[in-house]
Amino acid sequence: MNINVLTLFPKMLNSSFQEGVVGQAFLRGLLNIQALNPRDFAEDKHKSVDDKPFGGGDGMVMSLDPLTKAFSSIPEGQRGPVIYLTPQGQLWTDAKAKSYAKNSDSITLVCGRYGGIDQRFINHFVTEEISIGNYVLSGGELAAMVLIDSLARYIPGVLGNLNSVEQESFSQGYLEAPLFTRPNGHTLGTVPEFLTSGHHLRIEQMRKAVGVIRTLCLRPDLLRLRFDELENYRALVLRLSNQDLEVLGLQREQILKLKSFLP
Ligand code: SAM
Repeated sequence: MNINVLTLFPKMLNSSFQEGVVGQAFLRGLLNIQALNPRDFAEDKHKSVDDKPFGGGDGMVMSLDPLTKAFSSIPEGQRGPVIYLTPQGQLWTDAKAKSYAKNSDSITLVCGRYGGIDQRFINHFVTEEISIGNYVLSGGELAAMVLIDSLARYIPGVLGNLNSVEQESFSQGYLEAPLFTRPNGHTLGTVPEFLTSGHHLRIEQMRKAVGVIRTLCLRPDLLRLRFDELENYRALVLRLSNQDLEVLGLQREQILKLKSFLP
C-alpha cells in the first residue's frame, strides 16, 4: 500500500515507522510511506505556508497554494482516497482501518497545523474527514501515525498471522479477553483454569464469552445483545470460580445486573 502524507513535519513520521511491525512492513516493501512537505512547494522567499484568517481571529491557517502544489505533485493514479485529519471528522474505527486496507492500494493523508487548512482544499480534494478522538491536537501528524499503524495491521503479510488481528478487540464487535503468560501460579494471581485445560474448543468458547461480558461491563456502547444471547454468555461466565472471575477483572454482581437491549 502506498501512503502519501502531506505534512509540515515529515521527520515526525520517519521516527515512528522505523520500529515494530510497521517498520518491518516498510522494510519489506509492503508499505510505502511518502511524506510531502508543502513548504518545499512555497514560492515566496520566506517559504511561507500559512497566513492570517480572513475575518480575523487568533492563529494562522495553512495556505491553499503550497498545499495544493504538494498534493498535485502526487500522480493522480497514486492518490487514492484523500483523508483530512481533523477533530471535526468522523471517528476513526477498526472497521474503517480494515476497509481502507482492503479496498485501497494508495491513500493520501493531509495533516493540518495551526488553526487548520483553508476550507477550499477540503471542498475540492478531500474525500473523507477523520478524527482520532474528541480532543484537539496541535497537528495532524500523530493522527496520521495512528491511522497508518492501524491500517498496516490489516495489510496481508504485515502480521505473521492475519487471524491474530481478527481475534483482537473491535474486529469481532467485542473486546478481547484478558491475556496471561507463564508462570501460571503467582502471588499476583493464578491463570483461569479454562486457559490451561488444553481443550481448544472450550478455550475459544470461554474467551468469546469473557470478551463479550467484559465489553458489556467496560464499554456497553459497543455491543447490543438479544436476551437469549446475553443469557448464554452470562451463564458460561458465571460458571467460573470467584478466583477466576477476579483474575479476569470481572465481578459476579456486575455480571448479574447486565441487561439485554433488544427483545
Ligand atoms: N481549528 C481547528 C478546529 O477547531 O477544528 C483545530 C485545529 S488543530 C489545532 C490543528 C490540526 O491538528 C488540525 O488541522 C488537524 O489536522 C489536527 N488535529 C487536531 N485534533 C485532531 C483530532 N482529534 N483528530 C485528527 N486530527 C486532529
